[in-house]
Amino acid sequence: MPHRAPLTNHHADDSVCPSEHKHTVTGKPRHPECPGRSYSQAVCSCGTWEIKHPGKGYVNECRRLHLASHQEEDGLGPEVLRELLRLNPQ
Ligand SMILES: [Zn+2]
Ligand SMILES: [Zn+2]
Repeated sequence: MPHRAPLTNHHADDSVCPSEHKHTVTGKPRHPECPGRSYSQAVCSCGTWEIKHPGKGYVNECRRLHLASHQEEDGLGPEVLRELLRLNPQ
């Protein structure tokens, strides 16, 4: 099984900020019940890696690098990795 490290967004109280919670380009919440995105998190299925950071782009980049480090042991080519990342767009 290839490893996965889906990216999730969270509010300050650690609850998940789902994708229905739209935000403006400046990061302001548009959903009436959304207190705002506080941080993004990615947890890898390998169980030994996770990241939590306010910058979504940073988290995404880190998980891309981490998944790439699994590529060899998973025996995956770059095409498969691209596919995995596409399936977890957030
Ligand atoms: Zn939210
Ligand atoms: Zn991992």
